[in-house]
This record gives sequence, C-alpha cells and structure tokens, in this order.
Amino acid sequence: MNKQELEKIKQEALQEHIPIIMDDTLAVVKEILEQKKPKSILEIGTAVGYSAICFSEFLTEDGFIDTIEREKERIEEAKRNVKRAEVEDKIHLYEGDAVEILPTLNKTYDVVFIDASKGKYPFFLEQALRMLKENGVILADNVLYKGYVRSSYNKHKQRTAVRNLREYLQKVEENPSLKTTVLEVGDGLAISQKKEQK
Ligand code: SAH
Ligand code: MG
Repeated sequence: MNKQELEKIKQEALQEHIPIIMDDTLAVVKEILEQKKPKSILEIGTAVGYSAICFSEFLTEDGFIDTIEREKERIEEAKRNVKRAEVEDKIHLYEGDAVEILPTLNKTYDVVFIDASKGKYPFFLEQALRMLKENGVILADNVLYKGYVRSSYNKHKQRTAVRNLREYLQKVEENPSLKTTVLEVGDGLAISQKKEQK
C-alpha cells in the first residue's frame, strides 16, 4: 500500500467533509484486524475508500474487501483512490444501494463493517449475520450518534435514525450468539463478536 497517497486521500476527504472513520475509532478497528488477520471483509458504506484502504493492510495475502457505495461521485473518487493507494487487487467496489445489493451476496466474511445509513442498521445486521463466519466480528460505526442514542432525545428530525440505532444495539446485545461491547470512541463503535458454537 502507498502510505503517502493514503495520507493525501485522508486530507482531501477531510477537506471535502466526507465523514471518514475517526482516528480513535480507526485505532480500535486496527487492533481487532491485527488479531483477526481476516481473509474477507465486507464494508457497507465506502464513501471515498479511505477506511477500506486502511483495512486492506491487515488482510491475509489472498484476502479481499467487498465494499458498497451508492453515490456516483463518491464511487468515482473511491475508484481513483483505491488505484492511487495501489490496492485495487484487494478491494472490490459494489455500486448501488446496499439494501438491494446485500441480499444478492452469497459469500462469507470474517469482518463486517457497517458504516452507512443509520436508519438501515437493523437490516444491515440481519444481512451481516447471514454472511458472518464462525468467529467473525461485526463492527458498527456511529452507533451512539452524537450521544442521542443513549439519551431520552426524540425531538430531532433524525428521530428515525436514532430509533433504528437503538434497535440495532438492542438486537446485538440480546443475541445469544454474539458478545457485544460498545465503545465511546469517535461517534460510538459497537463490536459484536460471534461466539464459538458448542
Ligand atoms: N467507511 C467510510 C465512510 C462512509 S460514510 C470511511 O470511513 O472512509 C457513509 C457512506 O455510506 C456515504 O458515502 C453514503 O453515500 C453511503 N451510504 C449510505 N447509505 C447507503 C446505502 N444504503 N447503500 C450504499 N451506500 C450507502
Ligand atoms: Mg462512520
């Protein structure tokens, strides 16, 4: 991977106000990936490719990332960035709405990173669970959404997002096959590790 280009890609994304993964969140995710050494990662919400490029460093030699983005301009920028970072052999970009694309996927993944429309998190979880390998982990970014999710807040126009994030957290916390930790890094990161089957 070309680290110099990666730093430029990050600075450009920040200037364009693209909501890329925050540094403290990224540090936690990197630790997890370091331990897991994943062969396959599914990312929902590519934006301009910054997080996918960062994650690609931790893949096994034959590993890959499938990542989904629906906004045309971001797709084009992500493609350019993936080339600039010299990781185009590891990252496969699916173009379109994840709500339509996910049900068509039939692979299994070691890691799923959920980082797209907050109102769809419960659906993304369902799809992530369907494709998660034994010992896999689901990471969900922005689950505390500026603190709204774990407060009594319900007046904002983002009410649907907040309600669906609450539902997401409830679902991962009550699922007996998952062990979930929610960290207050960045905008909130939920880490749901699949338990070993007995
Ligand atoms: N993971 C990126 C940031 C993603 S920002 C990083 O850290 O670098 C969230 C992205 O998800 C946005 O670009 C948005 O267009 C995309 N998105 C939101 N809902 C989506 C959906 N239903 N399907 C596909 N992409 C979606
Ligand atoms: Mg995010």
